Amino acid sequence: MTSTLPSSFSSAETTPDAAPRPVSLRIRKRLDAAGIPYLANDNISHHLLDGELDQLEIEVAGKVRELLRSLVIDIDNDHNTEETAERVARMYLHEVFKGRYHHQPKIASFPNVKKLDEIYTVGPITVRSACSHHLVPILGNCWIGIKPGARVIGLSKFTRVADWVFSRPHIQEEAVMILADEIERLCEPQGLAILVKAQHYCMKWRGVKEPQTSMVNSVVRGDFRRDPSLKAEFFELVKQQNALLTT
Ligand SMILES: [Zn+2]
Repeated sequence: MTSTLPSSFSSAETTPDAAPRPVSLRIRKRLDAAGIPYLANDNISHHLLDGELDQLEIEVAGKVRELLRSLVIDIDNDHNTEETAERVARMYLHEVFKGRYHHQPKIASFPNVKKLDEIYTVGPITVRSACSHHLVPILGNCWIGIKPGARVIGLSKFTRVADWVFSRPHIQEEAVMILADEIERLCEPQGLAILVKAQHYCMKWRGVKEPQTSMVNSVVRGDFRRDPSLKAEFFELVKQQNALLTT
């Protein structure tokens, strides 16, 4: 089979380890060798070496610059797009997709010494993400219900972990599952319920251009799954929190 890749690309693929080659290729090869997944909504922060995030920023900026050129935008003469590539690279790696490249914010948990076991809800927590299919925003609200278990964490910590989990390219169904996994890991609740209501800009801005549609989904685990009255109580509390918002 003959290769149709441009020569610059194929030489980058075959350059030995020590030579400069795209840092993303180096990272991907390392992850492949270790059998570590790097899907759009995976966090790879523990597999990046010192300095690689800075190198990635330079590489991504170069690719965005080429994207703009491919879109026939005169970035050499257009003062508005002159530094867009650098801004977009920073935005992806350190803001909107930071949940892929940065470690989870430090969240301390404490033993549940008072043996609290009444449910409570936290919300609305603003969540911001981007759809994996179009990389356009998903913006919405999240409510978290907890029946405390072995450990407790501060209320603001739910916001921090949700922000970190959602700041990746996602589909909403998976985002909610990943958030549930992280919260279970942090505080081992007896019951956990999460509800997310979000608007998808790939439906509002493009495609069917439906401005009002939102997607609502939820996950219930532990006692919330086993006990229908507890599950109903969660949705009732969320409804009340929502009603307070609009009054
Ligand atoms: Zn989409």
